[in-house]
This record gives sequence, structure tokens and C-alpha cells, in this order.
Amino acid sequence: MNDRPANWKRLDTDPPLDLRVEVICNTCGEAGSLWVNRARFTAWSARRMLLQDAFAHLSIPDREYIKSRICPNCWTKTFGPNPFA
Ligand SMILES: [Zn+2]
Repeated sequence: MNDRPANWKRLDTDPPLDLRVEVICNTCGEAGSLWVNRARFTAWSARRMLLQDAFAHLSIPDREYIKSRICPNCWTKTFGPNPFA
């Protein structure tokens, strides 16, 4: 039995978001929390999983929040939402 489509490629089967990560921004001190999958968070912490794979459900600024402790607001201030806007 093989009912996977021909172009199937490791599509995540939406792992449960069972861990709330508390993050405090290094720049402005704002506290936030993000829901992630515990097993993936552990894997990412141990450098066994890439950031974008472990937290595929998060936006890029939210991933940076966890990784670099820069909140989305400061991220926007630092890098800009769109340099051509
Ligand atoms: Zn901030």
C-alpha cells in the first residue's frame, strides 16, 4: 500500500505544540511565549534539528525570538519589514 503522492516530501504531520517557551527580548526586555513541540525543541537545543524544521509552524521573526532573543518588534526595527517600502 502506497497512497503517498508522487511528490511527497517529508511534509510535517503537525506535531502537537506541547511546550510553551518563555522568551525575554535581549533588546527591549519584552517577555513573550511561544508554543512549540517539546521533542523538536529538545532536538533543536541539542543541534540535532534545524531551526526552520523544528519550528516550521512559526514565522521567521518568531523563530529568531527563540533563537536570538530578539522580539518581532525589535527584529522589525533592526532589519525592517521591507527595505523597499
Ligand atoms: Zn524587543
